[in-house]
Amino acid sequence: MTTISIFNGKERDKRYAILLWHDVETGRDTTARLDETDAATLRDALTAWLDAPRMEARKTPTVVAERDGIRLLTTSSGEWGVADDESPSWLSCEAEARCEFRYATGTVSCESCARFIERGDACVDDDGIYTCADETACSAACAAKESK
Ligand SMILES: [Zn+2]
Repeated sequence: MTTISIFNGKERDKRYAILLWHDVETGRDTTARLDETDAATLRDALTAWLDAPRMEARKTPTVVAERDGIRLLTTSSGEWGVADDESPSWLSCEAEARCEFRYATGTVSCESCARFIERGDACVDDDGIYTCADETACSAACAAKESK
């Protein structure tokens, strides 16, 4: 385990950060003095390192649904996105991505089988919940989903 502390330093009107790195297991302290350029370099390097697995996963997304050239995507790192011919827009969660996909394709999603269907092919209840009008197709889609 490590604790990291940052203190403000100042020398001849120039501000700097003092980074104190304490390794709890060894009891060893490491310090570094960073000017603003060093701090920005460290920030960018850490951000790139943290984002690398997510960015790599975006290269090989799984297509969850596709309609009229618009794709609903998910990645092995758990991100969700919607893409047309251009690069995907990545969203914070599955629900937001599914909403964006429905909006982009003009569809609704069935509460039972989760397929995206035309509004005219759906029944809607008083709470605004959509289900497939074709119950046979809906049951088949549910069965196919459960067998995965
Ligand atoms: Zn359905």
